[in-house]
Amino acid sequence: MDSRRLVPRTDAVLADPRLVAAVGRLGRAVVKEAVTTAQQRVRQGGLDPREVADAAVAALPPYPASLRTVINMTGVLVHTNLGRAPLSEAARTAALAAAGHTDVEFDLATGVRARRGRGALDALARAVPAAGDAHVVNNNAAALVLVATALAAGREIVISRGELVEIGDGFRIPDLLVSTGARLREVGTTNRTSYADYRAAVGPETGFVLKVHPSNFRIEGFTGSAGIAELSGLGVPVVADIGSGLLAREPLLPAEPDAASALEAGAALVTASGDKLLGGPQAGLLLGRRDLVETCRRHPLARALRVDKLTLAALEATLRGPEPPVAQALHADPAVLGERAAVLAGRLAEAGIDARAVPSEAAVGGGGAPGVTLPSAAVSLPERFAGPLRTGDPAVVGRVEGHRLLLDLRGVPAGTDGDVVRAVLGADL
Ligand SMILES: *Cc1c(COP(=O)(O)O)cnc(C)c1O
Repeated sequence: MDSRRLVPRTDAVLADPRLVAAVGRLGRAVVKEAVTTAQQRVRQGGLDPREVADAAVAALPPYPASLRTVINMTGVLVHTNLGRAPLSEAARTAALAAAGHTDVEFDLATGVRARRGRGALDALARAVPAAGDAHVVNNNAAALVLVATALAAGREIVISRGELVEIGDGFRIPDLLVSTGARLREVGTTNRTSYADYRAAVGPETGFVLKVHPSNFRIEGFTGSAGIAELSGLGVPVVADIGSGLLAREPLLPAEPDAASALEAGAALVTASGDKLLGGPQAGLLLGRRDLVETCRRHPLARALRVDKLTLAALEATLRGPEPPVAQALHADPAVLGERAAVLAGRLAEAGIDARAVPSEAAVGGGGAPGVTLPSAAVSLPERFAGPLRTGDPAVVGRVEGHRLLLDLRGVPAGTDGDVVRAVLGADL
């Protein structure tokens, strides 16, 4: 008998209640594709015609988007490939609430248009009292582009040769700045740049002096640089790209610059990321002199770099709410991490897995605090667990060292330990 004649009709299969529900969850096109694939298998003789609906259900993707949940056990707290900062529960709740219609640019009391994202801007003003005003764009790169365009297009940005930085994946700050039509006036040398170098370069063509935090490397030895306080006396604005987004001094990272200190030292503007040490959503923060922030905000380019309502909601909740996960991970007690690793390794060893608790070293990552290691603890497993754990759901990503897979606990909230145990026990080896 011709098996093609037995292939159930698409609309008959789609009437299966499980597939009807899936259409509501995933969309018709995705579900139909799963059905078509199953019908194809029947035609090729690889599937019983009565199993088309079951096969389609089994082939449905688990989530409406392809991005998967990852447990970051790399020991790199802000991992750009893994989405940088995980949002706090407060920020997730706020983003979800803003996902529908929301008063992002509307005053519900008066019924007229209001300043976009005023809640997030107010939270920034409270978090950094030294800033006269604030503006938020899509990321720190966008903040730099906006500042360079609004304050220095057709003019010069004075910058030290020691601060012509590549941030990662080929992204070079000097290329970004030049793309705006500003010219770079490079001063000093790779290892030493003095106040006199800047003073000799500043003139009528200067838009601003830029200080860039060399966030992912360190130069040691015969070095020298001029500080913001000195440079702020040159009579031109000093813009400080602090990178990681610390708003105030962090005692654990004494060499990491922060917005409050930069502004107090005399920076006219500070630019920073929202999703590094600040622990919030991807965003670029512009903080500082009211007139300069206003010039940036009013520039036509600002509209192209405008930030989304979800971001504004998550940023505000990050700033006002409880300590976000990145800060918790940074402040985690190594002794507690060691105890957790011992408990986890014990539970896995009981199940016959070669698991051991070992000391580990974590890092801030994401272009922050280069050279700083944070004492941590990990569960060490045979290397062959790496692939199956990466492809599980949730995916667990560790780091391989000396033929062992290390699952570092510093970046993982304690509440996730049960998921880690389940993932390892369920790993399809
Ligand atoms: C990370 C970083 C950037 C880029 O920030 P994004 O938010 O990723 O655009 C720029 N400057 C410095 C110093 C950084 O560390």
